[in-house]
Amino acid sequence: MCDALAEQVGTSPYETDSATWVDAPVLECRTCDIYFRVLDDNTRKQHFRSASYVQLDRERAIWNERHGFLSYILDLTEHRLGKSGAKLLDIGCSYGHLLELAVKNGFHSEGVEINQDLVAYCLRRGLVVWTSIESASQPVDAITLIDSLYYVPRPVELMRELGRALSPAGVVVLRVTNRNWLIQAKAAMLGIYDFRPLGDAEISYSVHGICRLLRRAGLVTTDILPDSGRGKCMKLKQRLIYASTCAATNMTLRSLYVSPGVIVIARPS
Ligand SMILES: [Zn+2]
Repeated sequence: MCDALAEQVGTSPYETDSATWVDAPVLECRTCDIYFRVLDDNTRKQHFRSASYVQLDRERAIWNERHGFLSYILDLTEHRLGKSGAKLLDIGCSYGHLLELAVKNGFHSEGVEINQDLVAYCLRRGLVVWTSIESASQPVDAITLIDSLYYVPRPVELMRELGRALSPAGVVVLRVTNRNWLIQAKAAMLGIYDFRPLGDAEISYSVHGICRLLRRAGLVTTDILPDSGRGKCMKLKQRLIYASTCAATNMTLRSLYVSPGVIVIARPS
């Protein structure tokens, strides 16, 4: 991504295909305020065939965990647009869960997904899903990227392309993890870089980092909401972490985001 400015701060295990792991270098770019793994195309491709969230036998479990959250995202999107019946494009639509809910809520929805098995699965279920953005109908009123942007190796190019696909009054709603502060706090206190909070993200953004990316892509961030875990089915311990970090974020009047994830709303500039 920005190798010239970045420096390696460690390595972290990354699953290539089931039960095969590589030790991927992790770089930090302080200008972009990101950590990123150095992965090749082959590793990336294998990972997206073997990750737990692309397996068809996990589809119902993931629906049960996430459909409440996706409904919340759609409500948020509709509210920000101020109209119903909008055209929506979901990037990294996976099993098509958000599309399915969007259709029920009166959106005209299409999705983009790179995993061919998932595309076929969505098509069988009557959803409109493409393997590339150019194939999708444009312009659209809303673009959603829910836990998908941090897998994209060239995010500025992607967001510029999506900005061009957006109508002038359109809105981007994205959810990314927000864990860099945790890695930095541990590194500062213990002198240890622990990259487990990255999960399987290729690029891990801070709030500053995601806003910077959107700005570089010609988009303006209008809202950053701490992910409170609303609508998600979680164990008690996880629920407490989401609730307490969301409350802590709000106590700082959202000048410091310590929630495990953030929902970012952006518009064309
Ligand atoms: Zn950079």
